[in-house]
Amino acid sequence: MLEDEFTAIRNRMVDTQIKMRGVDDPRVLAAMQRVPRHLFVPQPLWDQAYNDYPLPIGEDQTISQPYIVALMTEALELQAGDRVLEIGTGSGYQAAVLAELAAKVYSIDRLASLAEKARQVLAELGYTNFQMRVGDGTQGWPEEAPFDAILVTAGAPQVPRPLVEQLALGGRLVVPVGDRFSQTLTRVRLTRDGVKFDYLGGCRFVRLIGKYGWQEGGPEY
Ligand code: SAH
Repeated sequence: MLEDEFTAIRNRMVDTQIKMRGVDDPRVLAAMQRVPRHLFVPQPLWDQAYNDYPLPIGEDQTISQPYIVALMTEALELQAGDRVLEIGTGSGYQAAVLAELAAKVYSIDRLASLAEKARQVLAELGYTNFQMRVGDGTQGWPEEAPFDAILVTAGAPQVPRPLVEQLALGGRLVVPVGDRFSQTLTRVRLTRDGVKFDYLGGCRFVRLIGKYGWQEGGPEY
C-alpha cells in the first residue's frame, strides 16, 4: 500500500470511528490524522492498522482500538505546554499522539523489548519531545513529577496512589479501573478542593502489573 492510501484510510478511520462516536476536540482529531498508526504494528498487520479493534504487538500485549486512544486523549484535556506521563508504552502509538499535543511526554513500560521497539519508531518519526524508561509505572516517575496529565493504558485494580500524588494542581489522571475482564475509564482531577472523579464508560485493557497494580502471575480475575 502507498503512503497516500494509508493517509486516505486514516482520514476515514477518524471520520467513521472517532468523530461519529462523539470525540470532537479538533486538536485530538488532527493528531490522529497525522500519526501513521501502521508503523506501530507488525508489518503483516499493516493492512488492519486502521480497523476498529485492538491488534497484537507481541509479548501478549495489544495496541488499543483507535477510538479508545482518541477518547482517552480527549479526556486528558491537554494544553500545548503540558508535561504528560504515560504508563504502558506498548507500541508507542499512544505516546506519539500525546507527543503531537503536549510539550513533553514521559512514558514507562515494564517490558524492555516493547519499549525498545517503540523508542525506535518514535525516533524515526522525529519525535524529540519524548523520553521513556523501563520499569514499574505504577510508581510513576517521581524525578520528573509533577505532571499536568497522566495516562495509564493498562487495567488497574484501583487508582495507583503514587500517580495521584504526582499530579500538578489542576492535573488529570485517566486510568481504566476494574477487574481482569472489564474496567471503567476513570478520570481523577486534582483541584484546590481535593480530588474529583469522573467515569467515562466501559473498556477492556490488558493488566497493569506492578506494586500498585496486579501482582505478576496472580489470579486471572
Ligand atoms: N499505549 C500502548 C498500549 C499499551 S498495552 C500503545 O499505544 O500501543 C499495555 C502496556 O502496559 C504493555 O506494553 C505492558 O507491558 C504495559 N504495562 C503493564 N503493567 C505495567 C507497569 N506496571 N508499568 C509499565 N508498563 C506496564
